[in-house]
Amino acid sequence: KIGLDRLETINEAIVHSIRSGLFTFDPQGKIIFLNRSAEEIIGRSAESLLGKSLDQVFSPEARARLDEARAQGVRNKLSFADGSGRNLILEGSWQKLENREGQSLGELLVISDITEMEKMEERLRVADRLAAVGKLAAGIAHEVRNPLAAISGSIELLQKGADLKGSDANLMGIVLSETERLNRLITDFLLYAWPLPRGFEAIPIRELLLNLVRMIKARTDHVELALQAEPDMIIKSDPRLVEQIFWNLVNNALEAMPKGGKLVISAGKETRDSRPGIWITFTDSGVGVPPEHLDRIFDPFFTTKDSGTGLGLSTTWRILEELKGDIEVSSEPGKGSSFRIWLPADSGLETREDRS
Ligand code: ADP
Ligand code: MG
Repeated sequence: KIGLDRLETINEAIVHSIRSGLFTFDPQGKIIFLNRSAEEIIGRSAESLLGKSLDQVFSPEARARLDEARAQGVRNKLSFADGSGRNLILEGSWQKLENREGQSLGELLVISDITEMEKMEERLRVADRLAAVGKLAAGIAHEVRNPLAAISGSIELLQKGADLKGSDANLMGIVLSETERLNRLITDFLLYAWPLPRGFEAIPIRELLLNLVRMIKARTDHVELALQAEPDMIIKSDPRLVEQIFWNLVNNALEAMPKGGKLVISAGKETRDSRPGIWITFTDSGVGVPPEHLDRIFDPFFTTKDSGTGLGLSTTWRILEELKGDIEVSSEPGKGSSFRIWLPADSGLETREDRS
């Protein structure tokens, strides 16, 4: 038989090792106990939390969600910013604490940090949606491309044989340039639908970015540019696809700052889950993305621009999927946006291992 002492020690050990954050409140609503996970999730020490009430720990919005969870006896999600820049998604539920006689001793609040899980679920949702649309798009694009090639080939032959003058020559020119435009659209479309890496090469990222900045400067003069990149960042990847990603993000940044602003590109090394790699951020001071658009901007054809195709970010997403990279966005409407990508040091290696 286990002695009472030992049982207490075991209970204590369980409460302390459990991954959920536990808070106990007295009947007056003051925190009288919390475990280690609770300290970690909230990012404050037990001493600074004991005796505090709920509204001294959570924002009014988060409190409202917790009150609702208590009233309805359910688990609720809430967002929590700990002041050090961490934004967490938490889940909270309540339990009444009663002794054997049914007297209330207070309440227990159980908090779990579900931030990573939520992110993963969202990624899976988007990936599913993109895979379905991508297949459809690829099918249609192929079907359109073949007759298109036949049309432009025939027209070119006709143009060579015929001695066209004046408006006839003009019309022929329009047919040719429009077929070309259609062809470009279809090519973009296929790149989105099926961005297969063609070949992996060693890419010096800093040099690629320097070159990118030079080209942006040649294209625009009303945007201030800054580049901060670590030296010696060499990754093995498909240069065509990597450049495509950069341009998609740069174009969006420039389009978000029609009246000028600042584009900061920074890059450095970062190992993720013991996979070496690099990160690059594109931070603009443009119009920003409203929160209600944030989970849609990676959808194919989602655009807020008159002449947008809505394929830029979805293609970027697809390419990063192929290269086993990742993208994150943070944005504040009116202030600007930051797109952060991560690329493994060797996409080819990852792809091979993945597929074997
Ligand atoms: P497009 O540029 O053709 O609209 P994208 O897929 O590149 O398509 O972008 C989709 C949408 O995401 C844009 O229409 C815009 O609303 C939003 N967006 C993307 N990048 C930015 C940015 N840097 N700043 C503000 N909004 C952006
Ligand atoms: Mg775009």
